[in-house]
Amino acid sequence: MTLPSSTPVPAADASGASDAAPDAALPHTSTSGPAAQGASITVLAPPSTSDPASTAKLTTTSPSSTGTTEPTTTSASRTNTTSTTSPANTSSVVDTTRTAPTAPIVIPAGTVVVIDPGHNGANAKHPEIINKQVPAGFGQFKACNTTGTATNAGYPEHEFTWNVANALRKLLQNKGITVVMTRDSDTGVGPCVNDRAGIGNQAHAAAVISIHGDGEAAGVRGFYVMTAARAPAGPAITAGTEKLALDVRNGMAGVGFPISNTLGSDGLWQRSDLAGLNLSLRPTIMIECGNMRNASEAATMSSAAGQQKYAEGIAAGVEAFLGR
Ligand SMILES: [Zn+2]
Repeated sequence: MTLPSSTPVPAADASGASDAAPDAALPHTSTSGPAAQGASITVLAPPSTSDPASTAKLTTTSPSSTGTTEPTTTSASRTNTTSTTSPANTSSVVDTTRTAPTAPIVIPAGTVVVIDPGHNGANAKHPEIINKQVPAGFGQFKACNTTGTATNAGYPEHEFTWNVANALRKLLQNKGITVVMTRDSDTGVGPCVNDRAGIGNQAHAAAVISIHGDGEAAGVRGFYVMTAARAPAGPAITAGTEKLALDVRNGMAGVGFPISNTLGSDGLWQRSDLAGLNLSLRPTIMIECGNMRNASEAATMSSAAGQQKYAEGIAAGVEAFLGR
């Protein structure tokens, strides 16, 4: 995963240590520590035979959603149109108005979204930079950044987040949204987590989306959306954050991604230990798209088609949020 744990994390973090640092204040009872997590994983681990099927499902649905976010609207319109031709309807003029509720989402001009691809490609080569302690909000300090995790085959989280972020950027820009990225390449170092939060604040972002991939035990599977457990910028922003989290969760689920079978609750998890959330003054979520140590999800997360689909799920949520 991504963000630094409460102690400086050396390059060994890439060996699979989770971003989900233990936190006694967390509401989730199964993550009080690595040992407890491991125990629950043993119980909850799905049979490996389920993985190929789910991979096939994602692959199959990917092409149909590529390039457009409107298939659902089209389908609904067709259904209504068909119903107007049924003998029971005596007035096609009245029935035609039924298509109105499926009007497209309208996003206000000038809307800015900040996309934060977790980690960076050269972090592992510069521990002297990324292990530096920086403010993490509410009096906490954390490492500037971490290397992130990787699949068992070595596909790195920083590359996954970079590719998903760029796919998401294109989808949002196609909707007229202005996008600001927290890093401009996948070959640099940092920026530090507090600086990433500052970018969203300075941009006065309507939404901040931080993208990560998890490095949990192999049986853990699915995505979850994290928000700040404490309100860093007052109740209005917190309400926005909670709506954003629900919309992104629903967007991800809507394109077929499974909600985490282990972490968070129903795809949501309030955290008190993440600087990117604690220091943001804008509606902000951090998403763990999947577990890079799960064989099925590793395949999806390593593929261009899978990365595009993660972007589409997130974009659907962001657009739903902004269209309100
Ligand atoms: Zn991460």
